[in-house]
Amino acid sequence: MTMTTETRKFEAEVAQVLHLVTHSLYSHKEIFLRELISNASDACDKLRFESIAQPELLAGDGELRIDVSWDPAARTVTVRDNGVGMSLDEVVANIGTIASSGTRRFLEAMSAEQKTDARLIGQFGVGFYSAFVVADRVTVLTRRAGAPAGEGVKWESDGKGEYSLEGLDLAERGTTVILHLKAGEDEFLQPWTLKSLITRYSDHVAFPIRMPLEADGKPGEEWETVNAASALWTKPKSEISDEDYQSFYKSLGHDFNDALAWTHNRVEGSQSFTTLLYIPAQPPFELMMGGRDERKGLKLYIKRVFIMDAAEELLPNYLRFVRGVVDADDLPLNVSREILQQNRQLERIKSACVKRVLDLLEKLARDEPEKFATFYKAFGNTLKEGIVEDHANRERIAKLLRFASTKGEGAAQTVSLDDYIGRMAPGQETIWYITADSHAAALGSPQLEAFKAKGIEVLLMSDRIDEWMLGSLSEYAGKKLQNVAKGELPLDEADKQRQEEASKAAEPLLHKLKELLGERVKDVRVSARLTDSPSCLALSDFEMAPHLARLLREAGHDAPESKPTLEINPRHALLQRVEAEGDESKARDLANLLLEQAEITAGAQLPDPAGFVQRMNRVLLG
Ligand code: ADP
Ligand code: MG
Repeated sequence: MTMTTETRKFEAEVAQVLHLVTHSLYSHKEIFLRELISNASDACDKLRFESIAQPELLAGDGELRIDVSWDPAARTVTVRDNGVGMSLDEVVANIGTIASSGTRRFLEAMSAEQKTDARLIGQFGVGFYSAFVVADRVTVLTRRAGAPAGEGVKWESDGKGEYSLEGLDLAERGTTVILHLKAGEDEFLQPWTLKSLITRYSDHVAFPIRMPLEADGKPGEEWETVNAASALWTKPKSEISDEDYQSFYKSLGHDFNDALAWTHNRVEGSQSFTTLLYIPAQPPFELMMGGRDERKGLKLYIKRVFIMDAAEELLPNYLRFVRGVVDADDLPLNVSREILQQNRQLERIKSACVKRVLDLLEKLARDEPEKFATFYKAFGNTLKEGIVEDHANRERIAKLLRFASTKGEGAAQTVSLDDYIGRMAPGQETIWYITADSHAAALGSPQLEAFKAKGIEVLLMSDRIDEWMLGSLSEYAGKKLQNVAKGELPLDEADKQRQEEASKAAEPLLHKLKELLGERVKDVRVSARLTDSPSCLALSDFEMAPHLARLLREAGHDAPESKPTLEINPRHALLQRVEAEGDESKARDLANLLLEQAEITAGAQLPDPAGFVQRMNRVLLG
C-alpha cells in the first residue's frame, strides 16, 4: 500500500480532551507509562484471543511481550508491543475519534471537578491521550496482525487538533508508541525512573515487560524482564503478599489508592474457576458520575487467556464497584458475549462472585468495623439497590445496611437492623423508621414525638434511595419494617382508651377544622403520634411520602396527587385557640397554618406558598 501523508482533524471532543490533558493535567504525569503499557497488554491479550481461532496470526513471533526503551539523544521514550496492532481504519477509529462514551464522561467529570488529576484519565478509556501530558509529539507505528508488511500505518500528532496519517512498510506486527518528550521532562529518560514506574504500576501485567540494560549511558543490546509477568490469581494464596495483591489491584483498576479489601478463591469440581475480587476504598470516578452504562472492572479469563470485560455478565448492578478477575477452566474459549449471557456455568460463577463479595463484606463488618465504615460511606447507597434487585440475597444485604437512628450517634449511619432488634422493647414486633429528605428533617419530624415519649427507637432515613429501597424491604428477621407516619401506632390498651376518649372530646373541634379546611383535606383526626407539636400529616399504608412526591415532581415525573389527612394534638395551645376563636376568618387562617406546617415538616410542597405567607403575616400582626 502506498499512501501519501494525509492530515486530519481530531473529532471535536477528542480535541477538547487533548486540550485539557496538555494544559491542566500536571499532577501524576508519570501515569502515561502505566496507560501505554496497559494498552500494549490489552493488545497482547487481544492477539492471544484471536489466535485461538487463527493460530497463524502468531506466526514467527509467538512470545507476546512489551518493550520499553529510551533514547537520550533523540529525547524519546518508546513503548512497543507485538500484540494485535491496528489497521488504518482502526487507528482512525480508536485514537482519532471518540472510541467510547468515556471521552464525553471524562470531559464532564473534569469540568465538574475542578481538580485535574492525571490519575483519572485511565478510568475513562482515554488513557492513550495521557501521552500528551509529557510529550509534545507522539508517533504511533502499527501493523495489524495478519496484515502484510506493506499495510503499516504511521500516525503522528502534536496533540493540538490535527494528526497525520501515512502508510508505510513495517516488518513486524504490533504497535510502537514513540513519545517526543517536552522540555523539562528529562527524568523519563532515566532508565531507573522508567524501571521503578514499571515495577510500581505494571508489575502484574501478565506479559513480560522488557527494558534494555544500560551500556555507556545508552540502551544496550541486552534486554531484561523488569516485571513479575505472571497471572497473580493463578498462584497459591500463600505465595502472594498483601503488596502483590495491592499492586495488582492498582494496575487492574487504574486506581492510585490501595484497595480496601479483597477475596481470592479457587473452586474445584465439575466446574473449576478462580475469582479474585476487590473492593476499592473510594468510588471510582465513573461510579460517582452515575455511569451505570458500559460497566467495566471485572475481567473474564478462560484458562489464563483474557476473553473480555464481563462485569455486566458476572456481577449484578448493585455490586458494580467490585473490581477483579474471574478465570474459568471449563468455558469454551470461543465464547461470545451472546453465548455468555445464556451460559449456565456463567450463572453459577456469577452467584459465586456475589456470595464471595457478600461474605467479604460480612467479614469486614464483623472484624474490621472501621474499614466497613469506609466501604459503607463510599458504596452503601449502591449496595441498597441490591435490596430491590437481588431477592435471593435480600436478607444478607439488609444485614449489611447501616442507618442513622434516634439512638445512634448523630447523623452517622452506624445502626444495623440487628442492633435495632437487639434493643427492641419486650413485645415490640415492628422496626420503625422515618424517611425525609434530610437528616435534620427526619430527626425534627413531629411524627417521632410519641416514639420518643415511649422510648422506642426509630431509624432515620434520608438518602434518596431509601424510600425506593424500603418498597422492597417490608420485613427483616421476621420483624415488620414500618414507617412511623403510616398505619397504626404501637399502642397498648390504656393508650387506645385514652386515644378514644381524646377523639370523642375533640369531636366539635374536628368538625370545626373540617369545615374550615374543606377541600384541602381528606380527613382531620386526633393524633396518637404527637406530644409537643400541634399537627402532622398521616399517611395510609400505600400512600407515597410527601417529600418523595415532591422530588418526583421536581424531576419531571408524575406523582399521585392525594389529599392529606391532618392529625392534630388537641392539648396544644394552638388547637385550643382555634377552638376558642369566634372570628371565622381568623379561625380559618389558623386552621390553614396548622395544615401548612404539617406539610412543611413532612417535606411536602406547599400548594400556595404566597397564601401561606399572607396568612402567617396576618396572624403575626393580629
Ligand atoms: P482504552 O484502553 O480504555 O480503550 P485508550 O485511550 O487507552 O482507551 O486507548 C484507545 C484505543 O486505542 C484502545 O481501545 C485500542 O483500541 C487502541 N490502542 C491503543 N494502544 C494500542 C496498542 N498498543 N495496540 C493496539 N491498539 C491500541
Ligand atoms: Mg487504555
